[in-house]
Amino acid sequence: MTRFLPILLALAYAGIMLALSVWRTQKVLNERSTPLTERRLLSDLAPLARALDLPRIDLRVYEMPEINALAAPDGRIYLTRGLVRAWAAGQISGPEIASVVAHELGHLSMGHLRRRMIDFTGQNAVFVVLTAVLSRWLPFIGVWIANLISTAVMARLSRRDEFEADEFAAALMVKAGLGTAPQRRLLAKLGDLSAQAIAGPDWLRSHPPIPERIAAIEAAEARWRG
Ligand SMILES: [Zn+2]
Repeated sequence: MTRFLPILLALAYAGIMLALSVWRTQKVLNERSTPLTERRLLSDLAPLARALDLPRIDLRVYEMPEINALAAPDGRIYLTRGLVRAWAAGQISGPEIASVVAHELGHLSMGHLRRRMIDFTGQNAVFVVLTAVLSRWLPFIGVWIANLISTAVMARLSRRDEFEADEFAAALMVKAGLGTAPQRRLLAKLGDLSAQAIAGPDWLRSHPPIPERIAAIEAAEARWRG
């Protein structure tokens, strides 16, 4: 029993920390966001709701200057003010924003948020066990190696989620009659942006390399055609 105690404690600790951070994130999102009201943009996004047989998609604008978007635990999609501004300035088109919304819809409908929470809790348990085992043989670098391994496992799982969300988005964009071109175009654009470090959206850093994502979208489309 005492053998498993550290694991149980690690799981409980991770669970509590996670619940707290989800609650805090949701609170900040609620406080600093308003519904998206830009009519022209809403009409560019309308084909997505139609393709999903939904009356509308609940979209909010989060007051943050960076270009970013996220799906929240409350099932809403948040676009940052920076993203809406880039659209207003003509840097990003309406159909390109639709591809971002489609990607976030993918995370929501495939249950990625819940899965990521379970993964996170599991990662902590793996870390504790690995540290205990490795430290026995490698007193000082055991913790470091355990951290490296559990982080790599997490990164792999998160990459899998991103490819799934991209494929969902590609299918939805095709069904909505928008095609995947805006999705690929936006990825290339954001790649340039973050390469110049102007507005490196943080979700790109946690996402797989852009050329790989574009290639996967093209491969999925070729599969559907074939
Ligand atoms: Zn994503």
